[in-house]
Amino acid sequence: MKEPLHLFKIGGAVLEDYEELEETLAFFSNLPGRKLLVHGGGRRASRMGRQLGIEPRMHEGRRITDAATLEVVVMVYAGLENKRIVSGLQAMGCNAIGLSGADGNAILAEKRPVKDIDYGFVGDVKAVNTESLDALLNAGLTPVYCAITHDGKGQLLNTNADTIAAELAIALAGKYQANLYYCFEKPGVMENVNDPGSVIRYLDPELYAAYREQGAIAEGMIPKLDNAFRALKAGAASVQAGDRKALALGKATQLVWTTEFPE
Ligand code: ADP
Repeated sequence: MKEPLHLFKIGGAVLEDYEELEETLAFFSNLPGRKLLVHGGGRRASRMGRQLGIEPRMHEGRRITDAATLEVVVMVYAGLENKRIVSGLQAMGCNAIGLSGADGNAILAEKRPVKDIDYGFVGDVKAVNTESLDALLNAGLTPVYCAITHDGKGQLLNTNADTIAAELAIALAGKYQANLYYCFEKPGVMENVNDPGSVIRYLDPELYAAYREQGAIAEGMIPKLDNAFRALKAGAASVQAGDRKALALGKATQLVWTTEFPE
């Protein structure tokens, strides 16, 4: 039997809410056994950029990362947000270590080729160095990754945090029973985004396609679920999405291959 590993991604709105972040970190720090955390920080990066006169530019929810924007996201993700999370976890007795994908060559990426849109310094993940990651886990540390990668030639790149979480789960699924959690501010993926009582308990690819078609699942939820299903297909043992409370109670949305035979 493979040893369990918990991979926990914290969403943007949770990072913005100090109380919720603390509660979420408390929940994460209490997860038993090996674990790691992935976070973004897009909202703060946009605010910080504006203060510096750098207006955020997005295309279909993805940030266009020119050289000046890259400097902002590295400062915000790898600096402030990462260290805020690490110090929060340390206060809870969780021996966290804050890293980017360049540290320990953990996440190697390549600059996205320019097609219709030039995303700038955005990285598509090429390889995960499971050895260096495992060395940290074996040392009893809890890695906390921000959404910054590198190309191995000295260039830092901006990579979507949901993608990083999925890639880490996929890479580590060979060795571990990889349990992936997308923790965001809603109790789960919902039939009606304004009705907290409408959480879809089990979501399979067919249902996902149908809700997407209807427009019930939209915006940031689409890339998140695309990543989530990719991880499930590539060997993640479980994938769940919801807020800290729903995840703790086992009431968040669970991704499955078929809803024909739910647990
Ligand atoms: P994060 O920053 O946490 O990674 P995103 O903002 O990218 O998350 O995606 C989460 C958002 O997706 C929610 O805040 C919500 O507004 C939106 N969303 C769209 N459709 C749904 C749905 N069916 N259920 C839940 N959230 C949804």
